[in-house]
Amino acid sequence: MNKERREYHRKWYKENRELILQRCKRCYQNHKEENREKGRKYYEKHKNDSSFREKQNIKAKAQYQKRKVEGKVQEYQNKVQDKRREYAKERRKKIKLQAFEILGGAKCANCGCDTFAFLEINHKNGGGNKESQKRFGKKLGLGLQICTDIVNGKVDDITKYEVLCRVCNALHYLHLKEPEQARRFDIKWNGD
Ligand SMILES: [Zn+2]
Repeated sequence: MNKERREYHRKWYKENRELILQRCKRCYQNHKEENREKGRKYYEKHKNDSSFREKQNIKAKAQYQKRKVEGKVQEYQNKVQDKRREYAKERRKKIKLQAFEILGGAKCANCGCDTFAFLEINHKNGGGNKESQKRFGKKLGLGLQICTDIVNGKVDDITKYEVLCRVCNALHYLHLKEPEQARRFDIKWNGD
């Protein structure tokens, strides 16, 4: 192809680009299933072929790079992470709720507060930290673990636990530490 013709083609393509793309799109739609089937057959035939695999890998990597540059990879990862977080949150909530129900309902045994986000499980005799030290080698809120154990029936004595709101749980802690001083507090929940 000489220079002149190349120029002409380039110009022609530019002028008719929309039309060509539309035709492509139509063709793609019309032969979608057919082409997919063809692709599937081709893949089945060549999937154990090392050079085919190599080509596929190169193609996939190039596609990934392109998506990465366009920011689509990050976008997808964020979406997946959000979904995962949402799912984990739902799962935690479900387990907590189940454990609360077993212990007598989702409300504070002391003040009656029923704000789910404030509720936690309390060891009546204290020792939550000691228990987590024994099991995990460090002090941490047993929270979800104890809920899971209660739900799965892995707790030897369920009467050792109760549902308290954060405020009452703090007071309970003070009662264990400084009973004389703690007695001077009284917690009242105003409902709505
Ligand atoms: Zn309370």
